[in-house]
Amino acid sequence: MPHLKHLEWPFFDARHRELAAELDAWCGAHLHAGHAADVDAECQSLVKQLGAAGWLRHAIAGQALGGAAEVIDTRAICLLRETLARHNGLADFAFAMQGLGSGAISLAGSAAQRERYLPRVARGEVLAAFALSEPEAGSDVAAMQCSAVEDGDCYVLNGEKTWISNGGIAGFYTVFARTGEAPGSRGISAFIVDADTPGFEIAERIQVIAPHPLARLRFVNCRVPKSQLIGAAGEGFKIAMRTLDVFRTSVAAAALGFARRALQEGLAQAKNRAMFGARLADLPLTQAKLATMACTVDSSALLVYRAAWQRDQGQNVTREAAMAKLMATEGAQQVIDAAVQIFGGRGVRSGEMVEQLYREIRALRIYEGASEVQQLIIGRDLLR
Ligand SMILES: Cc1cc2nc3c(=O)[nH]c(=O)nc-3n(C[C@H](O)[C@H](O)[C@H](O)COP(=O)(O)OP(=O)(O)OC[C@H]3O[C@@H](n4cnc5c(N)ncnc54)[C@H](O)[C@@H]3O)c2cc1C
Repeated sequence: MPHLKHLEWPFFDARHRELAAELDAWCGAHLHAGHAADVDAECQSLVKQLGAAGWLRHAIAGQALGGAAEVIDTRAICLLRETLARHNGLADFAFAMQGLGSGAISLAGSAAQRERYLPRVARGEVLAAFALSEPEAGSDVAAMQCSAVEDGDCYVLNGEKTWISNGGIAGFYTVFARTGEAPGSRGISAFIVDADTPGFEIAERIQVIAPHPLARLRFVNCRVPKSQLIGAAGEGFKIAMRTLDVFRTSVAAAALGFARRALQEGLAQAKNRAMFGARLADLPLTQAKLATMACTVDSSALLVYRAAWQRDQGQNVTREAAMAKLMATEGAQQVIDAAVQIFGGRGVRSGEMVEQLYREIRALRIYEGASEVQQLIIGRDLLR
């Protein structure tokens, strides 16, 4: 199996190799490629399926709560996302959001919060969301305006969040809001807001080129009990960054999965397509294209699993995770574009796998830190 060959690399333990091979077989039997007509329903059903099969146990921390390990295993979530993305983009999204949406609770939640939310996340009984971005605060997170003001035993939230994945179908949202203990990033706190909390509403559902559940959220005098504050007041920015630190490398892993699928599709098409009395694959320019695609896939994989391994050793991975995200997402865009080219007219036909991958990859170069943000992180780290 060429797509499982990297499992022989020394970054992995036996359990990782078994996990990836088992998930690959499970995906082959249970997932179909392609976008569903109703993404909300499809996403809800995928979360249930992933939960029932036990894959979501890897998205949370704490074995007593149903998690696969005491701390989130970065190599495991990267292998899971790579494999899911290679089979079905929405399945990868469904898995990733259970982890990202509940990550702050896994990392900094109280015992009561962990017990109330994490087991249901792992079983796929409730969908989670991560609400950080705002209309005027995307890359510049510290510019956020959404406020949370103390009032008796509650915080009162007012403001908006946008581009929120699982917005509209999540059972709870991890919301970051300004509590004002200090200026800028030091005056932000994290809250768990249940979807049925009065004063919370879905202001708009957002359609994007690769359909995913996405929304703009609005809070109008939304009273959230103090027991829903995650960690200490004023620690929200740190909690958000710690959460993204866990999941950033896994975005790169998802991009790697899309790129691997594009290479696989491109290879098959080049071998099957008759052209100029031979096959497309026999033409030297095609071989050069395939060679470049394979080099990009392997170099992305090396960066992804170096960062994941290093994080699992307890080392700081700020630079390595940024390198993995930058190179794997940008590289996947190029690999997928080359696959579309190999397919000719079929490459841009709606419903073709490479056409879907072409739409699927684009947002990964923007969210969880745009490529320019990753470049800044790497540059600053080099100059430190
Ligand atoms: C499909 C999708 C899903 C998302 N899901 C979530 C979610 O679940 N939760 C959530 O909180 N957010 C989510 N987001 C939001 C995402 O994190 C933001 O879109 C992202 O942070 C960029 O913010 P922005 O869109 O406001 O763009 P801006 O901040 O306006 O940035 C625009 C562009 O400016 C450039 N840029 C940024 N910084 C620099 C710099 N320092 N120097 C030079 N150029 C720079 C980049 O090219 C960037 O793309 C999602 C976005 C998308 C598209």
